[in-house]
Amino acid sequence: MGDCLFCKISRGEIPCRKVYEDDEVLAFHDINPVAPVHFMLIPKLHLASLAEAEDVHASLLGRMLVLASRLAREQGLEKGFRTVINTGKGGGQEVFHFHIHIIGGGNIPPMVRRG
Ligand code: AMP
Ligand code: ZN
Repeated sequence: MGDCLFCKISRGEIPCRKVYEDDEVLAFHDINPVAPVHFMLIPKLHLASLAEAEDVHASLLGRMLVLASRLAREQGLEKGFRTVINTGKGGGQEVFHFHIHIIGGGNIPPMVRRG
């Protein structure tokens, strides 16, 4: 996808603060962090959101979850971390290239505020 921001980052056309890279995925720090540690993990393959995921993506997505946990530990989040996947406009997604946010290291509030 020529003009997709995260495709451009994965091709190295836009710089990022890299956390991890292999043939299939890239992890980099969020430009506008909401906690002391906030990075995201993306597939190099363009997948707009989780809503577009199909059976063919299952092993990649599973691998990403396992890797998210390993990278969180490596970034010092041994006590735990939050993973967030915003999906579609109704889910607050802003960049339409699938990504998993990995967040932690601070005072993480309850995810959903009730009342
Ligand atoms: P989402 O709302 O899940 O689509 O999140 C998009 C995230 O991308 C936001 O947390 C932004 O701060 C982050 N972001 C936008 N542009 C960049 C960039 N150039 N490098 C790193 N993170 C970015
Ligand atoms: Zn993309």
